[in-house]
Amino acid sequence: MKIRFLGGCREVGRSAVLVDNVLLDYGMKPCDPPLYPLNGLRPSSIIISHAHLDHSGLVANLMDLKPHTFMTPVTRDLSLLLAHDTLKISRRQGIFPFTTEDIQLLMQRVQPVAYQDDFEVDGYSARLFDAGHIPGSASIYLDGKKRLLYTGDINTLNSRLLNGADLRCSDVDVLVIESTYFGRTHPDRKELERQFIESIIQTLDNGGSAILPCFAIGRTQEILMILAAHGLSPYVDGMGVDVQQIFKEHPSYVRDIDKLRDAFDNAKVVEPKRRSLVLKEPSIIVTTAGMLNGGPVLYYLGKIHDDPKSKILLTGYQVEGTNGWNALKRRCVEINGEMVPLNIQIEYYDFSAHADDTQLKKIVKECKNVETVFPVHGDDAEGFAQWIRENHGCDAVAPKNGDEVLLD
Ligand SMILES: [Zn+2]
Repeated sequence: MKIRFLGGCREVGRSAVLVDNVLLDYGMKPCDPPLYPLNGLRPSSIIISHAHLDHSGLVANLMDLKPHTFMTPVTRDLSLLLAHDTLKISRRQGIFPFTTEDIQLLMQRVQPVAYQDDFEVDGYSARLFDAGHIPGSASIYLDGKKRLLYTGDINTLNSRLLNGADLRCSDVDVLVIESTYFGRTHPDRKELERQFIESIIQTLDNGGSAILPCFAIGRTQEILMILAAHGLSPYVDGMGVDVQQIFKEHPSYVRDIDKLRDAFDNAKVVEPKRRSLVLKEPSIIVTTAGMLNGGPVLYYLGKIHDDPKSKILLTGYQVEGTNGWNALKRRCVEINGEMVPLNIQIEYYDFSAHADDTQLKKIVKECKNVETVFPVHGDDAEGFAQWIRENHGCDAVAPKNGDEVLLD
């Protein structure tokens, strides 16, 4: 088994791992300009773990190779939505990673695979396991010369939207594991929800509006479910609305489709033409983008950035250099090319859908027979590798982008 690490090593973004001729993920780092995995590869097959840009965002770029392409049906539909959005952004940046024809080819080539279904891929028997990260997210199991598990982004705890990851795939020789939150612990979810709701109610009571920037896939729906459970009715605006339609078509990929539907019905969808009406009175607005890099959230911030009674409640991790990070650290955001100072209140809530330190260590412990572990997708993958060597007694290395490993 030859493994080549092409991206997403000791960093978060542009994930890509080539196992012999099978490529696991092919994402981009959506910065300006975007970063791509190392190239020169000729995979004959591709398996995509989930529909986040840093894992699936560049797969359309490889369609000239005519690869066999596998992913869950919901990941396929979400990837289509994201690919068209990427093209829109590309037009603004002047960088074109693929064409509309490539997206059409991708949709023709995808062979949708459900969780637990075995499929053959280049000498391996493969299977996808629910990774609990976003709807359709999968850990990828390959059984051939060696048995390998690539966790992808993974979350072992239940959320309102999803069940925690299915860890029945832990009897493996090689583990490639994400390490985003190694060394960090998420707050208790119930307490976090309580503080979040209290802060929103307080904002409305003071006569301000609460802007809740959310990632379109997963976070928008989770936040709508939390608000509904606490009797709050928000507005919802942006790509999260399209994503909801896709989830409705794949009800088995969420924990409780009826509760999700109710939560969505509890919210008012904002037509782009009617945005100006939303802020006429104190409102709760769930909107994209989660890191404030584009999307309708910038419209709302443009209107109320100077209002100290209103509040931005960030609901996810903010990558350094993004507008969301600037908002938190420097109290300013870029809107239409201009840096705008923020007098609005800003808070951050850790609603992460990634395993934290305790969960990551638990996943490794579950893999009792593992010989080699490769932590990837994190700033401290080396620290995680060291912890594994010292506590689990197996080989563990944090690879660098470009590293090649041969395992007999
Ligand atoms: Zn992800």
